[in-house]
Amino acid sequence: MTDTTVIVAGRCWDGRAENVRGHTEVVVRKGRIVACEDRADRPAGARIVDLGQAVLLPGLIDCHVHTVAGNTSSAQPALEALPVLRTLLDNGFTTVRDLGCFTPEPVTLTLRRSVDSGLVPGPRMIVAPRLMSARSGHGDHSDEAGACGCEIGEVADGVDEIIRSVRRQARQNADWIKFAATGGFSTSVDDPTIVGYSEREMRALVDTARDRRLPVAAHAIADAGVRRAVLAGVTSIEHGHLATEETLRLLAERGVALIPTQHAVTVFVGKLDDEDFWTDKADNVRRQIRTHAEALLAGRRRQVRGGAVIAFGTDAGTFDHADNWREFPALVGSGLSPLNALRAATVVAARLLGRDDLGRIAPGARADLVAVPASPFDDIDVMGHVSFVMKDGAIHRHP
Ligand SMILES: [Zn+2]
Repeated sequence: MTDTTVIVAGRCWDGRAENVRGHTEVVVRKGRIVACEDRADRPAGARIVDLGQAVLLPGLIDCHVHTVAGNTSSAQPALEALPVLRTLLDNGFTTVRDLGCFTPEPVTLTLRRSVDSGLVPGPRMIVAPRLMSARSGHGDHSDEAGACGCEIGEVADGVDEIIRSVRRQARQNADWIKFAATGGFSTSVDDPTIVGYSEREMRALVDTARDRRLPVAAHAIADAGVRRAVLAGVTSIEHGHLATEETLRLLAERGVALIPTQHAVTVFVGKLDDEDFWTDKADNVRRQIRTHAEALLAGRRRQVRGGAVIAFGTDAGTFDHADNWREFPALVGSGLSPLNALRAATVVAARLLGRDDLGRIAPGARADLVAVPASPFDDIDVMGHVSFVMKDGAIHRHP
């Protein structure tokens, strides 16, 4: 017996090339890729996995998901996250960045450990445990119906509370820090045009995180908040729908990644007249989306053309996780090339996450591989038909 697997596919995109290449053989050993060639040496006894004419791609990365729903301290939110993790992995996403949960204890940190140890199947998780928010801001759910009555999330006001919150999350072994630079669409007082934190507060947050070598993701929708967060030194801007061309240029200059979450916008704007959809949500959420619907939709092309590095992230969890692949056609529909859409979910995402070992098919990289039945360069919708998934050398899904 050998511990080697050879994946054989009719076509392959390795994360770097401009297009797909022909027949490819990828040799995998101990969770790593050891070779990627037209014809690889097949060690005696190696397991051969022949994917026929399928197109092999690097494992996909979704840089913005919420795997845990609910805000109770029972085991329920963790149990409900298990099928979510499986769904994301089924979709070919071998890595996700989870940007916050609202359970009293950050369940996402437990899930990360459980996936890493092999206890539960799921994508590798990179976790920002909490959405940090100013009181009355996007993450302050304290007065909402169904909330625990406590400050769920991480409400932190002023430099001292902000520093304490960042350090508490560092102590919990956070991978990222996330905060709300503007309001959004989540509570009865939320407003996406409100800026969440002062310049001083944002700088204190980013500096404290930097001292702990933690990158910072800013939820930011309106231009003023996007700009202030970029100037404070964040690593990524989440959403950024209302950012002006000038601000998007600033992102490009500073190397700040933009995660446009465009499919989510389409979903929520598309539901505006669907009464059933809104029954369990605060009236204000619907009102705010209606107010900004046109601007949100109009921002899509600007986001893609603005010159900022685009990383793939979906906000899955605010809509069905099974649909997270739909961000691919959304981005292409807004004018991003299929190549750059694929790069956004592989090499670019890997760079954002500081993980050189992900997002490419090359010797030394982690053996995260997926396959689709046809070339996404010809039809981006094939990204919704992932038929094969390998993570760390273990086959999760096989046609
Ligand atoms: Zn989100």
